[in-house]
Amino acid sequence: MRIILMGPPGAGKGTQADVIKAELNVPHISTGDMFRKAVTEGTPLGLEAKSYMEKGQLVPDSVTIGIVKERLSQADCQKGFLLDGFPRTIPQADALAKTLQELGIKLDAVINVVVEREALVARLTGRRVCKSCGATYHMLFNPSKTGEKCEVCGGELYQRNDDTLATVANRLDVYDKQTAPLIEYYRKKGCLIEIDGDKAVAEVTQNIMEALKRG
Ligand code: ADP
Ligand code: ADP
Ligand code: ZN
Repeated sequence: MRIILMGPPGAGKGTQADVIKAELNVPHISTGDMFRKAVTEGTPLGLEAKSYMEKGQLVPDSVTIGIVKERLSQADCQKGFLLDGFPRTIPQADALAKTLQELGIKLDAVINVVVEREALVARLTGRRVCKSCGATYHMLFNPSKTGEKCEVCGGELYQRNDDTLATVANRLDVYDKQTAPLIEYYRKKGCLIEIDGDKAVAEVTQNIMEALKRG
């Protein structure tokens, strides 16, 4: 299946993607993860992306579209993919549509995970991520059973430097201005599925899987 997982920062896209990718056996393509890896590795892409990410702004479309195009052309995407955090602007969505057309493939679903702003702030400021494997936790809502360490791999947990209160507010504003218009964009195309993200993680997963089966 070819799926886009949409929703504001903190909606639970990454958390859900981890389960869905295993259920559907498709690669999870997260532009945020790709940029963070590039920043850690100090590549030219990372150097360019870093300043935008720190401020909670979007990395320019030209850069972002380029890395997604390249990723989608890799062999493992033949069987499908789960896009998380892309597209985030109308030009990105248009570029994706063009790329898919060129590859002769169609999207199966666009899932919009809906969570209101107040809950998003609490989720983002309490988020903790494993340095080694990327597993995501929350200090209150989803703490690691092994305390300060990652439950999966024993790695160290850290707070992303864009998960501070000031940057979170900016990211949510950027979402409202630049990304929220995509909801109408995909609704008009007739492939939008809206899911209430303000429920327990397992319930949200179940609702997404059921919606995908209904098609
Ligand atoms: P996104 O990828 O959309 O930014 P994440 O999956 O990283 O979101 O989730 C943001 C934070 O909210 C994380 O700390 C995660 O543990 C927590 N979280 C995710 N889903 C839920 C949920 N259904 N209820 C409560 N907290 C959640
Ligand atoms: P979130 O948890 O807010 O959904 P991500 O991990 O998806 O965060 O993204 C982190 C940052 O990476 C964004 O604030 C932005 O700077 C950059 N980024 C990720 N995806 C995109 C995109 N599609 N377009 C532009 N910038 C992006
Ligand atoms: Zn880990």
